Amino acid sequence: MAVKKASSREDLLHFIDESRRKLWTLNLRRANFFPTRSTKICSKHFTADCFETAKFGGTWLKQNAVPTLFDLPPEQQKIPMITLPPIKRKPVISVKDDASIRRRCSYLGDFKEEDMECPEKAKKALSAAKEVYTKQKAQIRRLQLKLRRLQDKTIRLQKKSESKKRKRSTLEKASLVSKMSSNWRNGIKGVLLDITGVLYESGQGAIPGSVDAVNRLRDNKIPFRFVTNETQRTCASLVTKLRDFGFTLSESDVISPGVAVAAYLKQKMLRPLLLVHPELLPEFSDCDQSSPNCVVIGDAADYFTYENMNQCFQLLLASENPVLISMGRGKYYKENGQIVMDLGGYTCALEFAAGVEATVIGKPSSDYFMNAVESLGLLPCETVMVGDDINSDVGAAKNCDLKGVLVRTGKFREVDLQNSSVKPDAVVDNLAHFVEILLNEKEP
Ligand SMILES: [Mg+2]
Repeated sequence: MAVKKASSREDLLHFIDESRRKLWTLNLRRANFFPTRSTKICSKHFTADCFETAKFGGTWLKQNAVPTLFDLPPEQQKIPMITLPPIKRKPVISVKDDASIRRRCSYLGDFKEEDMECPEKAKKALSAAKEVYTKQKAQIRRLQLKLRRLQDKTIRLQKKSESKKRKRSTLEKASLVSKMSSNWRNGIKGVLLDITGVLYESGQGAIPGSVDAVNRLRDNKIPFRFVTNETQRTCASLVTKLRDFGFTLSESDVISPGVAVAAYLKQKMLRPLLLVHPELLPEFSDCDQSSPNCVVIGDAADYFTYENMNQCFQLLLASENPVLISMGRGKYYKENGQIVMDLGGYTCALEFAAGVEATVIGKPSSDYFMNAVESLGLLPCETVMVGDDINSDVGAAKNCDLKGVLVRTGKFREVDLQNSSVKPDAVVDNLAHFVEILLNEKEP
């Protein structure tokens, strides 16, 4: 600092400050005089207003003080002395005038600063202060608890996020491994074939290439079964129809719901009330149908009248242990080029009205698929199901650990494939395309 202590008597002051040292030297007007930090000047060369009394005692030289009192020769006295403008100091705000401090006093309610002079009022102020303190302490505790909860939640969310990232990473790796490990063809030894929509189009003829495709499976000694939900005709009638289309097969090659349900009824000694297509009735000729104690429902088509449905409902309602057997749960199928309602809707109607759960013997029942796989003498993982229904054929087969291939014939719709949660192992143009891929003649 360039301010030096000065007393009433004459003192020697240092030329400490670099900037003012130059001004002081100019006012001295001595030739070849170069002061250093240790050079001193007498306090008598400063005017009285260059000094000020400090707060804590003593007299101090002001920061803008410049020596101006010198006995100079007359010619030098004509040159005015250099001085510095007075220092502008910030106004000192007293505690009483400070508005912010006054506002702070109001935190204690209506008490004013001067109230603290009175013991009674001071006591009240203290009590109010304690109350404020207690409230604020409670609020701090609440905020701390809230903060802890949020921190816990953050940790939980971070863990959840990390877990999801790990799962995603695992799935991506699994997907990559799946793609890399050749394809669904590996280890396949047998085939299950849907009939309607795969071998032939309903109301039309055989799908081009399908007759030859079935023959090629047989020629290559790949065992296969036809797994159908066809319930508008008997198995024998269906086989005849397929033979007419050019297919070579026997009844033992076909797994049909009519035959399976008839066997089930005999095994369980059940007497059915049949709501089925008249063409299917011969399948149940050996079943006792007197005093029915269960309902069997198939694709009755035009015979799904209110009267027939209500008769089934009445029987279920009157039974102590109602038994409803359905030959499938398909939503729709294609007939004569049109998508039409399948058995699933009628089954659901009876389930809803009578409050029972149907026993499904047909696709998508897992028992139905497992019976077909067992008839081939294979394991589910060695078998592939080929169908045109993404749910009842592909999805149900995959649930049983079979591979599932969807054909773009029959009831196939691109929108079903896009919206379904079922992911087929492959989607092929038709049965012929499937056989070409299976026999390694084409890449999947
Ligand atoms: Mg089909």
